[in-house]
Amino acid sequence: MSHDAVVIVGGSLAGLHTAEALRGENWTGPIVVVDADDEPRFDRPPMSKEYLAGTVPDQKLLLRDRARLDGLGATWLLGQAVTAVEPARRVVRLADGRELAYADLVIATGVSPILPRALAVPSAHLLRRKADADRLRQHLRPDRSLIVIGAGFIGLEVAATFRAAGARVDVVEALATPLLRQVGPQVGGALRRIHERAGVVFHLGRQATSVTEQGDGVAVTLDDGARLTADALLVAVGSVPGTAFLEGSGLEVADGVVADGHLQVAPYVHAAGDVVRWPHPLAGRSVRIEHWMTAIEQAKYVAKRIAGTGGDEPFAALPYFWSDQYDRKLQVHGFPSADAHLELLDGDLDADRFAAVYLVDGRATAVVAVNHPRQVLAGRRRVLAELALQEAP
Ligand SMILES: Cc1cc2nc3c(=O)[nH]c(=O)nc-3n(C[C@H](O)[C@H](O)[C@H](O)COP(=O)(O)OP(=O)(O)OC[C@H]3O[C@@H](n4cnc5c(N)ncnc54)[C@H](O)[C@@H]3O)c2cc1C
Repeated sequence: MSHDAVVIVGGSLAGLHTAEALRGENWTGPIVVVDADDEPRFDRPPMSKEYLAGTVPDQKLLLRDRARLDGLGATWLLGQAVTAVEPARRVVRLADGRELAYADLVIATGVSPILPRALAVPSAHLLRRKADADRLRQHLRPDRSLIVIGAGFIGLEVAATFRAAGARVDVVEALATPLLRQVGPQVGGALRRIHERAGVVFHLGRQATSVTEQGDGVAVTLDDGARLTADALLVAVGSVPGTAFLEGSGLEVADGVVADGHLQVAPYVHAAGDVVRWPHPLAGRSVRIEHWMTAIEQAKYVAKRIAGTGGDEPFAALPYFWSDQYDRKLQVHGFPSADAHLELLDGDLDADRFAAVYLVDGRATAVVAVNHPRQVLAGRRRVLAELALQEAP
């Protein structure tokens, strides 16, 4: 068995970018990309926004067309899950029993949405794959109604898309504020008001305890006894990292595959994208980030490490994400936290646009902005400067 290939497990955003970046770094050896999905090339952010709304055609959802993929000269094993890894022998096992030897292995298996048992009726919708968006879109009509469980980004984006199409939307959230963990109470509160003005009904501080199917729709019971009914149900309560196949491999898993500061999991084993947990030098702790941009930055970094063309410093890109809801573009750079002090840079939280920084012990750890791209970049520079300052011995 020859160990000359880079094997990439997961061929979506992080896996694809790793393969491309390897070629960009003039790595000429074989690349094998394995993905459990038959078509991992679909980009996910539009699935809760413009693709769900029907304003972006299927073709535009593709990260790359076939010709560009072919140009990479990689082998794509699609519809094939990796079921095991043996780092000592440097092989991975596929679902059909085949083994692949690797020179270097890249774990880029992302996350999958959680469906709690109490909510698991056959008609419940989850949103991760194109087929999920296609199925959910069948309810996107003014005469339909949707219950969303979970007021995180995906839940709120879908709520906005459905309300914009005229559907009735209820959002159930266990915490007191939407997006509390992601952006804190003040910005979460501002987003709540935007949704309420658009007609979304929130049930905050409430747990959904059971779901039953009723005719063509669903009935959801909350922990205060309230009962909501709608044509469709979206469960968007979080996700689990794709690490089941690492069981028995000896590689460390703790809410993600655990890597060092160089995104290295073990000798010849690297990780990139939503699945990896690593010590972020600027955060001062280990993090796992589910953001589109971070997945790409990590893929490029890992490719440099494998090709021997860079990645000597630990991976320290400042996390960035965006979210589109109605006519608002939310952008966040850095490490927002619920207990930080919010300092406004421009506007106020109920204005059409604003920008603010999160201060922890007087230092900016994150910047948030709505419809304010210029201020958010200025804020990003400040966050980078202040976090780096803190790092100095
Ligand atoms: C609906 C939605 C909206 C989003 N919107 C935004 C946004 O607005 N802004 C933002 O910053 N981020 C957004 N994101 C997050 C962003 O899409 C992710 O950060 C990004 O997809 C991560 O890429 P990845 O390659 O790490 O993982 P994924 O895209 O999840 O790809 C992982 C791949 O690994 C494959 N795989 C898993 N296990 C195995 C196995 N054992 N064997 C073989 N293959 C396997 C899967 O089939 C999958 O193709 C959104 C995500 C979703 C779902």
